[in-house]
Amino acid sequence: MQASRKSTSKVDSRLPKKHIAAATAVAFCLVGVMSLLPSKNVQAKRNVIALDLPADAPALSQAASPAPSTPDKSNNDSAPKTLNWQETTIASGDNLTTAFKRLGLNASDVYRVANTSTERKPLRRLRPGEHIAICLNEEGLLAQVKYTRSTLEHYLYERGESGFTGKKIVLQPDLLPTYKTAIINNSLSLDANRVGLSQAKIMELANIFGWDIDFALDIRNGDAFSVLYDEKFLNGEKVGTGDILAATFSNHGTTYSAVRYIEQDGSINYYTPDGKPMRKAFLRAPLDFTRISSNFSLRRKHPVHKRIKAHRGVDYAAPRGTPVYAAGDGKIIASGYSKANGNYVFIQHGGKYVTKYLHLTKRLTRKGKHVSQGKTIGTVGSTGYATGPHLHYEFLVNGVHRNPRTVKLPDAKTIAKNQRGEFYAQTTPLLNQLSQHDGLLLAQADLHD
Ligand SMILES: [Zn+2]
Repeated sequence: MQASRKSTSKVDSRLPKKHIAAATAVAFCLVGVMSLLPSKNVQAKRNVIALDLPADAPALSQAASPAPSTPDKSNNDSAPKTLNWQETTIASGDNLTTAFKRLGLNASDVYRVANTSTERKPLRRLRPGEHIAICLNEEGLLAQVKYTRSTLEHYLYERGESGFTGKKIVLQPDLLPTYKTAIINNSLSLDANRVGLSQAKIMELANIFGWDIDFALDIRNGDAFSVLYDEKFLNGEKVGTGDILAATFSNHGTTYSAVRYIEQDGSINYYTPDGKPMRKAFLRAPLDFTRISSNFSLRRKHPVHKRIKAHRGVDYAAPRGTPVYAAGDGKIIASGYSKANGNYVFIQHGGKYVTKYLHLTKRLTRKGKHVSQGKTIGTVGSTGYATGPHLHYEFLVNGVHRNPRTVKLPDAKTIAKNQRGEFYAQTTPLLNQLSQHDGLLLAQADLHD
């Protein structure tokens, strides 16, 4: 039922045509070993990997050697060579020096590789969980360094006559469109998980529709979604997922549709099928919905005043310390403390809108500062008149309190007129695919009636 969409693959970029050898003619490293298999004989703190080079493997080196006495074995030696890659996993706090030290390299190796003529920046930002593998040449000198960021992306640094040069290698996976749909009976997380959506994809879905739907408070049983996205495969193995391509979400009987559009500058945004941006000038809920612990009743007795207090905002109960975001771009017009509000922040958005955030544990901004949408301005707490940690959020239009959950939010920038043709060309096939799946499902449902 799913059409396979193959992307152009350039897997062979793993095997460079030109190989610049170091001082010796034969480097004992083969570039682009797909996965470095840890040997059973793991030495202290390092993995020694030994791989047999197939007899028909490309010649390792033809480069002129400054040591003419070294015999050139690359053309006539058909005996299997042993590849000695050693690999280490980046831990928290690691840098090139500590990683190289574990691999038995010294400070001058670090210096040489860190001063590579190309792609030196990535080596300064090693992240935990990534891998660095090294390979020595016949003389025991560092010949190659492979820095692996993900299954699809790595950097290769090779010793040349005038120092190391680096290059970025990105493998192109095959893409297979995948369709998922669910009706919500328990919670978005549970039901989406049940049909095979990862937590990250659920967040992606919520981020697309979160401008119209309050995922913190407004998801009901019977709500439903359908989503189309790519799964990525490399050599038949699933290596990840791509962006959501198109999706629908039905909330309280209203169905919202969204489709991905790649803008001219390469950035990705989601639009309604007729070209209105999903993104609004304001977040519907100014905090991470996954951290909401319970719904507050909106007409409750005020715990401190013991009377029904006119409630002019929304309360989001969430663990103390949950980040609170600026709902939209604006300027901080107040950041302070009062007995009732506790720590509070007010933001002015243009001439018309003000948003207010109360009972914060911490304020992470100050008066006069400009903030952009999504910027953390404080954390959830229970300062002021509050019995438990929650965010009290108010939304004012021309000085009048409006319900933040239902107020019509102004749109962010609409797609330009001269881009409409391109927009429909890109998005119509995606929406058609989604509705074909949805339609198929409806047809099946009819058959069972
Ligand atoms: Zn409140």
